[in-house]
Amino acid sequence: MKPETLFATIAAEGRACARRLMRGAAVLLGGALLASALATPALAGATRNVVLIVFDGMRWQEVFTGADPALITEAGGAIWEGEQQLRERYWRDDPAERRALLMPFLWNTIAKAGQVFGNKALASRAHVTNPYHFSYPGYNEMTTGAADPRIDSNEYGPNPNVSVFEWLNGRPDLAGKVAVFGNWPAYKDIFNTPRSHLYIQADATLPPAAGKDTPRQALLRRLYETTTLLDSGVVPDSFTQVTLLDYVRSAHPRVLFVGYGETDDWAHSGRYDNVLESAHHADGFVRELWETMQSMPKYRGRTTFIVTTDHGRGSGLTEWKEHGVEQKGSDDVWIAVLGPDTPALGERRAIAPVTQAQIAATVAALLGRDFRAAAPAAAPPLTDVLGPAGAAAAAH
Ligand SMILES: [Zn+2]
Repeated sequence: MKPETLFATIAAEGRACARRLMRGAAVLLGGALLASALATPALAGATRNVVLIVFDGMRWQEVFTGADPALITEAGGAIWEGEQQLRERYWRDDPAERRALLMPFLWNTIAKAGQVFGNKALASRAHVTNPYHFSYPGYNEMTTGAADPRIDSNEYGPNPNVSVFEWLNGRPDLAGKVAVFGNWPAYKDIFNTPRSHLYIQADATLPPAAGKDTPRQALLRRLYETTTLLDSGVVPDSFTQVTLLDYVRSAHPRVLFVGYGETDDWAHSGRYDNVLESAHHADGFVRELWETMQSMPKYRGRTTFIVTTDHGRGSGLTEWKEHGVEQKGSDDVWIAVLGPDTPALGERRAIAPVTQAQIAATVAALLGRDFRAAAPAAAPPLTDVLGPAGAAAAAH
């Protein structure tokens, strides 16, 4: 479907829906009440804000078992740091202890108060449905709800598909409250920002200051402008984090996409030590964002986080560095959810497979909205994370 057609469909459905409501509701509701009912859909649960966070190319193997014994060696991971020091930080013999050492927020908080999908060893599989197993096809799948075989390159250009973020940004009560942060300029194409008008910070250029930079802003601008980057426009995740926290505190977004990219960048560089460091830092960034938002009344007890990856990678001494159809296992991902509506079912086991495509409708359903009414090809939401009311609403 062409985007123009989708927009036309959304608009037509909105009008048809409004007409139906108008007939039935006129008897019961005054005009003002009706207007507010149309502007703010009935919310199924407590969630008013949703954050989708992606650790780019972060393997399920590290998420569920911590540092890989074959790669935490000088030969296996081409590490620069002394193997001994690295093992002191990230190795324990018990995999449960080891994974919590690598990602303490995921395992000590999300897995206890929320849910984690994708541990294949426990008969819980999470996988992509696109046929390519790399970034753009994965981000397209998770944000639009469906794989698109046309998107076969990270240089594909502007996304013809409408993401759940763009769709939510088009709702009157969320307009201007949806934003994208990441360390990869391709997000501008993935989210088609010229068309979607989403607020975005995804490269090494900070927006011009409204007035004079504060000393903090001036320092940040200097770092953005003078740091040698791994690739064009790809800033360290720590830079993204500072701009993200500032934005959350000042603009109060309700729907956020956050992309941390170092886990993929360092893997392609063959630096297993830095993959572990990046994963550990990103886990800390998620905790920091969670705690920052929980300290603000607008977000406290009303915010759901979905944390995932865009693709898996290969296994073994060489293939862990790359991903794609050539590297077996690159279609395996993981999905973690924490929020007031998500039952604390912990690390999921013995359940039907879930897919990356389900994330888009889940983001909308947590906010009480049906993305599939606008994008019928989108996969259904992950009903297990919505809570009883959300799951019932999603079934209609
Ligand atoms: Zn990659």
